[in-house]
Amino acid sequence: MGRITVWSMPLFTRKATHEPQPGAPQLEPLPEPPEPDRGQLRSMQAHRQYLLSCVSPLRPFRQHILDAVGLNICEDIVSSVDLPRFDNSAMDGYAVRAEDVAQASQDAPRSLPVVGEIAAGKAATHRLSPGTAMKIMTGAPVPPNANTIVPYENTDRGEQDVKVFAPSVTGQHIRRIGEDIKSGAQLYWAGDRLGPRDIGVLAGIGLDKVQVRPRPRVVVIATGSELVDPGLELSNEQQIFDSNSYLLAAAAKAAGAQVYRVGQVGDDRVALKQLIGDQLLRADLILTTGGVSQGDFDIVKAVMPEMGPCDFAQVAMQPGKPQGFGLIGFDRVPMIMLPGNPVSAFVSFEAFVRPVIRKLMAVRPYVRRVVRCRAAHDMKSISGRLQLARGIVGVDHSGGREVELAGGHGSHLLADLARANALVILPEDVEFVSAGDDVDVWLLDESPG
Ligand code: AMP
Ligand code: MG
Repeated sequence: MGRITVWSMPLFTRKATHEPQPGAPQLEPLPEPPEPDRGQLRSMQAHRQYLLSCVSPLRPFRQHILDAVGLNICEDIVSSVDLPRFDNSAMDGYAVRAEDVAQASQDAPRSLPVVGEIAAGKAATHRLSPGTAMKIMTGAPVPPNANTIVPYENTDRGEQDVKVFAPSVTGQHIRRIGEDIKSGAQLYWAGDRLGPRDIGVLAGIGLDKVQVRPRPRVVVIATGSELVDPGLELSNEQQIFDSNSYLLAAAAKAAGAQVYRVGQVGDDRVALKQLIGDQLLRADLILTTGGVSQGDFDIVKAVMPEMGPCDFAQVAMQPGKPQGFGLIGFDRVPMIMLPGNPVSAFVSFEAFVRPVIRKLMAVRPYVRRVVRCRAAHDMKSISGRLQLARGIVGVDHSGGREVELAGGHGSHLLADLARANALVILPEDVEFVSAGDDVDVWLLDESPG
């Protein structure tokens, strides 16, 4: 991430009389924000592009393979070993030469002296002489000169001599050296995402650590003096439970972040500054909700510019019009300040935060893919604002996708948001969609990819 501290500027450009005050860093401005392109408003796409341009992928480092599940590997992986490492038995039984048991049958078993026993982890110390057998366990190395394994089931399991009741062709029940993975084979390319089975491969070839980008550490804070943590008692009629910090923490986690849900802070300048200051140390991204509209107590908007350069924009979308962004503190930690209404906060998360988290992880595409769906009924939209309406996508009678809107427009309707599985994208210039027309949607439950 472009963490340029103010101290990296040449000192002679600063005047001695303007030494920065503690807690009030001399601010390097933000990159120039985009001009409004929708009347006084900024388009959603332009705002997203702006935020993306202000963050860079996190630096990779070597992490334990178990911590790398779901992350993108940042190095090519070439196996330095063969897997299997040596020819070994796939069965518990006897190592023999195929030619010595070729005539064996139930009625005329072939009897061979048992000259040794090889367990997994033990070496096959000597060659197998013609006309003899060695007991062998699954995974144990096949002794030189043996070319097939007779499983216990086809023998009398003899100790001194063994009776073999069936032939066993050359190579049967032998796992060959390198048949799984050859030494020198390239197994992963930088950029590949590691799933649980890949972790098995990495361990199998002897790697305990790999170079991966870390999960972005996302600090989530809800602002508002009315908020109470769920699980506690509401003490007066004006208080409400804080749903946003949980909603966004869960969404950020689902997007791949390592989340620190800090909880709530009241509409209090000092408390907010103190809390943000405390959190900067461990954050790759700070998310807040509330306090960015036009209200008298919208202190996020009032206070954050004192801690770093900020951009407060009116975005041509509904919900989610007021948006804030800043690069906070000496390390210029990105901070996205979302509106307080739960649906606005979530829609803004989808539009802006998820893409930023993915860019921090260098996982493309940053933005969800757009899927076309048939509108199940007429839909109205407001001119001049891109609407992200909650939708329920299902399958219509012909097997295609169709979408209906989920409940009302209100930005406070949490239950409708949870019922929805999609956001229907109704562009700025669309005022009406007829039933049967195609619309674009983001499918919210699609796997991260
Ligand atoms: P604000 O953006 O702070 O003016 O908040 C807008 C609306 O969202 C108000 O009705 C708040 O009570 C509500 N709200 C703000 N934060 C939360 C939250 N964390 N959980 C639930 N509702 C919230
Ligand atoms: Mg508020």
